[in-house]
Amino acid sequence: MRVKLALAPKMGREVVVEEVELDEPGEYDVRIKVMTCTICHSDIHANTGEHMEYEGPGAAGHEISGIVDAIGSKVTYVKPGDRVLCSEVRAGCGHCDQCLHDRPWFCTTIKPMSFRVASAFTRLNGERVTQTCSGAAGFATYCNAYENMLVKLDDDIPFEIGSALACGFMSGFGAVLNRSKPKPGESYAVVGCGGVGLSAIMGARLCGCVPIIAIDTQQIKLDAAIKFGATHTINPKEVDVVEAVKAITGGFGVDHSLVGVAGNGIKRTTFDLTAGYGQMVIVGHGHPRDEMMGDVNYMEFLSGKRVTGSVMGAVTLRRDIPKYMDMYRQGMIDIDALLTNWFPLDRIQEALDDSERGALKNVVVCDDEYYRERCGK
Ligand SMILES: [Zn+2]
Ligand SMILES: [Zn+2]
Repeated sequence: MRVKLALAPKMGREVVVEEVELDEPGEYDVRIKVMTCTICHSDIHANTGEHMEYEGPGAAGHEISGIVDAIGSKVTYVKPGDRVLCSEVRAGCGHCDQCLHDRPWFCTTIKPMSFRVASAFTRLNGERVTQTCSGAAGFATYCNAYENMLVKLDDDIPFEIGSALACGFMSGFGAVLNRSKPKPGESYAVVGCGGVGLSAIMGARLCGCVPIIAIDTQQIKLDAAIKFGATHTINPKEVDVVEAVKAITGGFGVDHSLVGVAGNGIKRTTFDLTAGYGQMVIVGHGHPRDEMMGDVNYMEFLSGKRVTGSVMGAVTLRRDIPKYMDMYRQGMIDIDALLTNWFPLDRIQEALDDSERGALKNVVVCDDEYYRERCGK
């Protein structure tokens, strides 16, 4: 089927929107008419190869929400016409060891998250497009996705909210609820206050954490952090972060920390600002070769300090997303405040550039009618 897709002709920042051929959905695949695909910073890193290099044209877009257009012969979860969001993480099989231990994202039965693989898109010059993120490439009018990545979207939840829930939000919010599990009154520090970090702050606030310390080098993000519930902000360009956190926490460091960004030394700093009895959760990552914490001395763990990681908020997809939709409905989480600027698919380059300049979460609207409906033009 002929569709429109935003692709990077070669690994890098430049993206073009062009007509391509989309394969028919495989037996377990669903073809989605994409309504919105919000931008996650991973989309930019994936296209530029910062997470891992790839050959040929690439396409990203993994916060997808839309309407089921067609299904493969073995799909049972959805039918054409259903509203869905599509996540990178899988719902899992529900009966393997990983699924039984609440780790469906590592399910051993359902095919794994795969990055830098051939997508279902072919350029009209015959080149097969590489999927730079996992699962699907959603900056397109239509895309195929594995049914195990889908969650039904309730009728009253707008598509853009479904998109925002599909990765960035759950990665931060879920990491707090499913990994940190803080108790009311415990302190929390969030390092890196983009979409993931701000969602973590929402989670920490919902759990009753105090103080909630937001750490970022961009003032615009620190201002946003206050709106989402941070009680203190620290700009590492201005002060020594570890000293500043200790000054706020009676000299101990925080009970919980979450690092939502990549960068040299940032994980070490996060470790240092975490109390000896505290726990640090690693969410943000860069290229595998840059993500070492080799200077940690084993003695530093004798106090019981813990370091753990979280992928996609450690969510159980079809258990947690419906909860998040309910929290949104009840006004407990403010996803709308995360959404920054809206762009039609044809202007995706502007949307990506704007995200790189610091927009929290830009909405790419892939359906022209929906764009007119929401943006009035
Ligand atoms: Zn499983
Ligand atoms: Zn993402």
